[in-house]
Amino acid sequence: LPDTIKEPVFAAYNVCEIEKVKTALKDKSKFTMVQCAPAVRVAIGEEFGLELGTLTPGKMAAALKKLNFDRVYDTNFPADLTIMEEGTELIKRITEGGTLPMFTSCCPAWVKFMENNYPELTDHLSSCKSPQQMGGAIFKTYGAQINNIDASTIYSVAIMPCTCKKYECDRPEMDSSGYRDVDAVLTTRELAYLIKDMGIDFNNLNEEKFESPLGTYSGAGTIFGVTGGVMEAALRTGYELITKENIPIIDIIDVRGNEGFRTSIIKIGDLNLRVGVVTGLKNIVPVLEDLKSGKLDLDFIEVMTCPVGCVSGGGQPKLLLEEYRDIAYKNRIKSTYKHDKNLPLRKSHENPEIEKIYKDFLIEPLGSVSHHLLHTEYCVGKEVAK
Ligand code: SF4
Repeated sequence: LPDTIKEPVFAAYNVCEIEKVKTALKDKSKFTMVQCAPAVRVAIGEEFGLELGTLTPGKMAAALKKLNFDRVYDTNFPADLTIMEEGTELIKRITEGGTLPMFTSCCPAWVKFMENNYPELTDHLSSCKSPQQMGGAIFKTYGAQINNIDASTIYSVAIMPCTCKKYECDRPEMDSSGYRDVDAVLTTRELAYLIKDMGIDFNNLNEEKFESPLGTYSGAGTIFGVTGGVMEAALRTGYELITKENIPIIDIIDVRGNEGFRTSIIKIGDLNLRVGVVTGLKNIVPVLEDLKSGKLDLDFIEVMTCPVGCVSGGGQPKLLLEEYRDIAYKNRIKSTYKHDKNLPLRKSHENPEIEKIYKDFLIEPLGSVSHHLLHTEYCVGKEVAK
């Protein structure tokens, strides 16, 4: 690749937000916790001149530890949690006659679009909060317990590929822990800015691991970063929860791809689950119009606003030349699937820390603790309804 694209050509930062995080990191009265979204680890290296789409979870964890966060956790853990809750919700809607199709709700731009433009259809959204917000609520409750600290001292930061996640953490209802569940969101670009600003040599860091238990994750959690990933992760778990058998083929190629709207029928025991994947917000409009006119024949639909899911999010390193942007997207997707393939665990329900949090704290998916901390309700054309 030519040298010219080794430096980001588009750089927009919220310096106030970066300063807020720097101040919290210096404040001895605060216990700082950070989580990183799956898509960040396949893009942040680009800000340091690494090849487009280089996978760097170990260097990212090391950089966050060097920045002095007290706990370096991972959004992939609450992504696994999302699958437990969302998969159970889907099964309940199918078996008990709930509203179908059910739409995923982990993309805040999509949720806001639905609230503003199709408020009469919001019952179709899953009640699950996004992984970022589930993580925030868990850090300030279970996280406070396991670290034996006062929840009021926790300052919770999320590193996201997404500018809309800043808006999401400020939604008034996102306080089920008793505090703001997430205090600050930095984009991938802003984290890179902070790392450079603090004089950390990213490329020469020795790799480190995210901390356990709230940083332990499966491959299913990591593929949330690409279009079709939430669907595939949900199907891996849904299949095994429904049939009580191992899924025969773990890579569910039918839901992968980059087309704006794709559908498939997935056989799960006696059930023929009709699924759809939408990527790029413009592609959802005909789907919603079909739903309104009774022409849509699907059970479960994943929707992501950005062109190929979060790996192409608005907070990621940007390349203005289309041909290099396409290479970046392709490489980030490839690295995400490679990361999934190489992880020892690839199904959310097999993550031992997910099993433990249900045993010790949440009790069961959709139970009363989960309902309070991990689920939400949607407004009708207004900011919030709870
Ligand atoms: Fe944010 Fe885009 Fe991902 Fe939606 S698809 S969560 S807008 S990065």
